Amino acid sequence: MAERNEKVLMELLKLPGNNMCADCGSRSPEWASYNIGIFLCIRCAGVHRNMGVHISKVKHLKLDRWEDSQIERMKEVGNITAKLKYEERVPPCYRRPKENDPQVLIEQWIRAKYQREEFCYPERQCYISGYMVGFLMKRGKEDRHYQSRKFILNESEDTLKYFVRENKEPKAILRISELNVVFAPEKMDHLNSLQLTFLKDGTTRHIYLYHDDPEIITNWYMAIRCAKLHRLQIAYPSASEADLVEYLPDGFAKEGWLWKTGPRPTDGFKKRWFTLDNRKLMYHDEPLDAHPKGEIFIGHAMDGYSVRIGVSVGVKDQGSPFTLHTPDRIFNLSASNDIERDEWIQVLEKVIEKPLTPQDSSISARLVRKRTNTNSINIFSPR
Ligand SMILES: [Zn+2]
Repeated sequence: MAERNEKVLMELLKLPGNNMCADCGSRSPEWASYNIGIFLCIRCAGVHRNMGVHISKVKHLKLDRWEDSQIERMKEVGNITAKLKYEERVPPCYRRPKENDPQVLIEQWIRAKYQREEFCYPERQCYISGYMVGFLMKRGKEDRHYQSRKFILNESEDTLKYFVRENKEPKAILRISELNVVFAPEKMDHLNSLQLTFLKDGTTRHIYLYHDDPEIITNWYMAIRCAKLHRLQIAYPSASEADLVEYLPDGFAKEGWLWKTGPRPTDGFKKRWFTLDNRKLMYHDEPLDAHPKGEIFIGHAMDGYSVRIGVSVGVKDQGSPFTLHTPDRIFNLSASNDIERDEWIQVLEKVIEKPLTPQDSSISARLVRKRTNTNSINIFSPR
């Protein structure tokens, strides 16, 4: 009997839709929620279990005993049918998590689907209205302590403001259309944390935020994405929604420590934290710095950008070196091992091969203007 049930489960698992986790799409699920009737990976099964048995009842496909009625339920529903119900009204700006995405995103996606049923009842989606107000913990620019700050998101104004004191002028006004937002759990050592990145006076500024409630931080993340999508729709009325969704933030292409030389061949390698944000390669002294020490705009191959293994002539070899060629300068870089180096080369090449968008060109122009200003100051300086 038990053996027969296991056989039926293995057959069901081969059906289209059931061969991938119902929530994150990872291959070969080994678990199931037998009241909802879906096949799950181990990570998503863990989230289902945490919601409690009144929402989801979890079993292993092989290690647990299955009753006939439970098998019937799996037959009756399955991943595709469940998706039609629980994902019926997912807004286009909502980021559907994939296998390796941050835990908070996976967890809140699953809770939004089955616990809050946000995608069956769109009026429960507080992040699509274009307005959000609340308090978030924000890291100080200099003192690294987190303080509670009031934030107001206003899509029609294209602004995200934050206040040090309520009922006073905002401390900063960020433009939503120019804002990037990413989850930063490892870097900030907090599960429910966000990094906001934007251009200010020709240079990038980073802001680090968290909230103890994972639902609230995820709502802020989705609210910024939704507002960004609506601003894009205003800016590009003839573009399709599916194309515009591609421009929404979904994390940095890569981050990590690299070693970098100065502009002179005799300069030694210095350890820097590198972040590739779309076409901007930034380097910092520390991962949580408010400003990068320097930033390099990565243009298109046709404009003289390329990346190669090895250092340029006259530079001392170190670690796993590679060079980034831009029309103005060759950057000698080094990773701690060859795997890291190859990953960096791969993500940089991908950017170099991609055509520039009008937004890319605007960022490039503003970064270049900054550099020109610095140069003109040098001309008048004593040396
Ligand atoms: Zn999963």
